[in-house]
Amino acid sequence: MKVAVLTSGGDAPGMNGVVRSVARAALSRGWEVVGIERGYQGLLEGRLRPLENRSVGGIIHHGGTVLGTARSPEFMTPEGRQRGVEALAAAGIEGVVVAGGEGSLTGALRLEELGVAVAGIPATIDNDVWGTDIAVGVDTALNTALGAIDRIKDTASSHQRAHVVEVMGRRCGYLALMSALAGGAEAVLVPEFEPDPQGIMAALRESAAADKPHFIVVAAEGARISARELHEYINDAPGTFESRLTVLGHVQRGGAPLAYDRILSSRLGAAAISALADGESGVMAGLNGRKVNRVPLKEIVGKMRPLDPEIYALAETLAGLP
Ligand code: ADP
Repeated sequence: MKVAVLTSGGDAPGMNGVVRSVARAALSRGWEVVGIERGYQGLLEGRLRPLENRSVGGIIHHGGTVLGTARSPEFMTPEGRQRGVEALAAAGIEGVVVAGGEGSLTGALRLEELGVAVAGIPATIDNDVWGTDIAVGVDTALNTALGAIDRIKDTASSHQRAHVVEVMGRRCGYLALMSALAGGAEAVLVPEFEPDPQGIMAALRESAAADKPHFIVVAAEGARISARELHEYINDAPGTFESRLTVLGHVQRGGAPLAYDRILSSRLGAAAISALADGESGVMAGLNGRKVNRVPLKEIVGKMRPLDPEIYALAETLAGLP
């Protein structure tokens, strides 16, 4: 059998672990493996390269993706996808492993519907993919955000300031909520839940009056009140703290994948190859509890992994505000 692997959409630390695992699991079955560069766009441009055991060596500890990634508007069209199917057939590729977020996995399902055997792997720092407890890249990005929040807290406490920290997450507040919980933030803003600006301002006033050394707010990019809006609001409000704004941005995507993501990517990559070997197409290898499961792509596309309201409530409780 000849299979291909591609990484698509937003990059996530651990994508290299996926490429390595897919390649070596396939090679160990005596299969041929091809890497498709720059996601679906690379498929349309014929950017294929053979992968061998050696060519995927020395990459598991590097962030980013050695195959490159891209967004491909052309692949969103039926004509583009048909060209993709033809390119796969011309190269003799019988199965494709797609690592990416919800968009990329939707693309994989569309390929499946055109008769291509596909297996998906959730890889996105947002942790918004339905059907898996966690996606490849989430843990590393979370630790990057947390490290930044810890540092910000040091300086905030020295100056007795409020700091509003914007973390990634346009539609999903997982990174914001978990980094706020782990970083001991005083408040968190996420797209999923209605913010309580009056409550936050009252907590800020009471904290300032009680001489609290800092007030950290973590806000997801897609929060209903933006990090900048809240920061400006705090600075305009008398009797609170002076505020500083930090937008963490793309630093959250890079860096060496931590142990968790190296292990997860290794497990999911091999599981995707097992699915193809069993003739099971159109599934995503996901983690549920301690087990790797096969989840039909049909069940995950168009959905979003929900944020746990209990954890949101816990973050509020543990903020220990007056
Ligand atoms: P992510 O995979 O990180 O969610 P995107 O949503 O940008 O990122 O999707 C990455 C790529 O996957 C898109 O550029 C497109 O090529 C492909 N894709 C996304 N949604 C679809 C769709 N509905 N149909 C076909 N291809 C899609």
